[in-house]
Amino acid sequence: AEEALRQSQKMEAVGQLTGGIAHDFNNLLTGVIGSLDLIQTRIARGQGDQAGRYIEAALSSAKRAASLTHRLLAFSRRQPLDPKPVDANMLIASMADLLRRSTREAIRVEERFAKKLWMTHCDAHQLENAVLNLVINARDAMHDGGQIIIATENLAVEDGEMATQLGLGQGRYVSLSVADNGAGMSPDVVEKAFEPFFTTKPMGQGTGLGLSMVYGFVKQSGGHVRIESAPGCGTTVTIYLPRYTGPDSPQAEIQAGAIDGRT
Ligand code: ADP
Repeated sequence: AEEALRQSQKMEAVGQLTGGIAHDFNNLLTGVIGSLDLIQTRIARGQGDQAGRYIEAALSSAKRAASLTHRLLAFSRRQPLDPKPVDANMLIASMADLLRRSTREAIRVEERFAKKLWMTHCDAHQLENAVLNLVINARDAMHDGGQIIIATENLAVEDGEMATQLGLGQGRYVSLSVADNGAGMSPDVVEKAFEPFFTTKPMGQGTGLGLSMVYGFVKQSGGHVRIESAPGCGTTVTIYLPRYTGPDSPQAEIQAGAIDGRT
């Protein structure tokens, strides 16, 4: 509980800590302005047909800037979550192209979907963001290629020992993990990884907001997130989200006690 309090205090402080973000945003804006400038020059010279790649560059910078502020807004909780019943298997499957485009060719991305996965209840857009963040972190940890495994599972936490070990209350959860066989994290990096603005990546490559955003979203959704990592071996980040059993849930009629589809 103390840890959660510390984390939430940090998350509040982030509202004020906009300097780094403003800097990143400004860089992107400079890119947009520069490209628009070039487009204007080309058009003035009657070479408007050569402006294509500058339009593309401007668009790409503008999109990255939009995604940065979007993430920041979500992070600072000014953007309300919109929780709905979600099938995590379907959500991940729908991201397959995006995930492969976000990784390099030397990285194999494999999905391991649990059969009859329970529904969960969360903001689908935020969950997509979380998965994308975890996959990008996994990619960044593998310099010479490797394998990323995205797995889902039904998880019933019934005994207290397991609950303590996983940091969860007793109950039913959908677990979603992203595992890589990359560089791994030392224990002190694991300890700081959820802190806003903590990054070990070179300047301009990491914001240090990815995992803290994931943490904020998962906590707000009534779940938990856990890192298992060993330097030189790899990292598994697992998100646990509460099972949803309300209307629209195909498993709603299944009585508690029958753990269906557990793999
Ligand atoms: P960023 O990715 O912008 O650095 P994050 O909050 O997502 O910010 O991650 C914080 C830090 O945690 C990273 O800089 C990295 O050191 C470490 N980290 C996160 N995911 C992994 C991973 N899969 N493997 C190794 N290190 C990781």
